[in-house]
Amino acid sequence: MDNILIIGAHFDDCELGAGGFAAKMASEGKNVYKLTLTDNVTISGKMGIDVDYQSSKNSSSDACRILGINEITSYQPSKCGELIYTKETMQRVEEIISSLKIDTTIIHFKDDKNQDHVEASRISETAARHCPNILAYQSNMYTLSTAYYPVFFVDISDYISQKINALECYEKQHNRFNKLFQANISRNQFWGHSRKVDYAEAFHPIQFKLE
Ligand SMILES: [Zn+2]
Repeated sequence: MDNILIIGAHFDDCELGAGGFAAKMASEGKNVYKLTLTDNVTISGKMGIDVDYQSSKNSSSDACRILGINEITSYQPSKCGELIYTKETMQRVEEIISSLKIDTTIIHFKDDKNQDHVEASRISETAARHCPNILAYQSNMYTLSTAYYPVFFVDISDYISQKINALECYEKQHNRFNKLFQANISRNQFWGHSRKVDYAEAFHPIQFKLE
């Protein structure tokens, strides 16, 4: 794993699912990139969420700086909530994977209750089909018809502060740190406990290069 691309539907998905892994790989000198497929624009009075594109980009830029990873800013995103698989979208992602010589693509798990996540997974998996390694993550915890049963664990104990600091970049906009973000960190602790470390991220492997 030398050139790693983490693809999320929304700006915080990468940090939620693989923020610790990203920071760890970057600290080891790997090239880590983040790609977001939608503009993140979300307004929900009920949930107290009012997120616009520019502030999302600013938050993401700060988060990437904290994690030490590179954000792909040239990509023209779809509208949040309207991401759909098209050949054109898939090929734009494929072009990024090819031009950056990505050997490891980290994508959304295929089963999810958020439609953008489902479409992002399909777009990413197809676009990365020639990529040696594909791992799937789950950014939000849902009860699904297909169990998310990850078996590829990464010890992120030394990088948990970076992950939390990166997630906090989105706190003001999303106003849900005590729910989504904190639950995510608790799950990292749970997975860490199962592997006898403090914190771990866990992935569902889709394909691995033959050695
Ligand atoms: Zn999301």
